[in-house]
Amino acid sequence: MFIGAHVSTRGGYLGAAKTALSIGANAFQYFPMNPRSLSTKIVNQRDTNACAQFCLEHDILSIGHAPYPLNPAAEDVERDLMVKLLKNGLEITDACGSVGLVVHFGKYVGKDPLQGYKNIIQCLNSATQGYEGSSLILLENQAGEGAQLGLTMEEMVQVRKLCQAPEKIGFCLDTCHAFASGLWQGHNWLELEYKGKQLDYLPHLKAVHLNDSVHPYGSHRDRHANIGTGYIGRENLQQMLTSSFLKHIPIVLETGSGSDGTHFHEIALVKSLVMGN
Ligand SMILES: [Zn+2]
Repeated sequence: MFIGAHVSTRGGYLGAAKTALSIGANAFQYFPMNPRSLSTKIVNQRDTNACAQFCLEHDILSIGHAPYPLNPAAEDVERDLMVKLLKNGLEITDACGSVGLVVHFGKYVGKDPLQGYKNIIQCLNSATQGYEGSSLILLENQAGEGAQLGLTMEEMVQVRKLCQAPEKIGFCLDTCHAFASGLWQGHNWLELEYKGKQLDYLPHLKAVHLNDSVHPYGSHRDRHANIGTGYIGRENLQQMLTSSFLKHIPIVLETGSGSDGTHFHEIALVKSLVMGN
């Protein structure tokens, strides 16, 4: 399986891949561009190529995480900017050989929630238009803190289906968000797996954000806890990790680092859960 954590790009994209390897990971997530701003980034091709090459050599899978202010549900006056960022993000993740670019489903505060979905679809259509790369846009489910869109598999599947190029779109399941939003009760993975298959969600699941939750089920609060220290708990996460849908996709921790400043020990813990310990 491909297990790892979010890592820094302080040493560039290649540096991020090397960091992943050094902490015992064979999967990682990174920010392709500045996570807090809406500015695009010029691609350093030497670095992206070196990252892709390194990951190929070491059998590592990666995903990029789009900047936080990137909102595909934003009104049309902001759309050009959002599309520009999505295209830029895809260009980088594709050059790095990454599975995809993780994008939060979107936040819509207007009166008509249907308009929010329309905005997302139009934004994704523009972003994928003319895009020939193999890195996908990965829609991430949300906890429901401040935004009520993207809390269910049904919505994600429907939005993907209504896009012009659904083959360019996949999903990233955040376990903390799923638990907080009410999508997953923790103890009912098999039920969720059955439903996810029927809905055509799980066949398009391309990445997992593996996080425990500081707050209880249905709290709508987005606070990640280290594995086994939150309300989801070790056993429930372990059951999920045995799913056949998780065998070939990057599973990435977005939790606080350990006392050594890395995720080395937590990755080892997740590996031991996978081994059935
Ligand atoms: Zn996440």
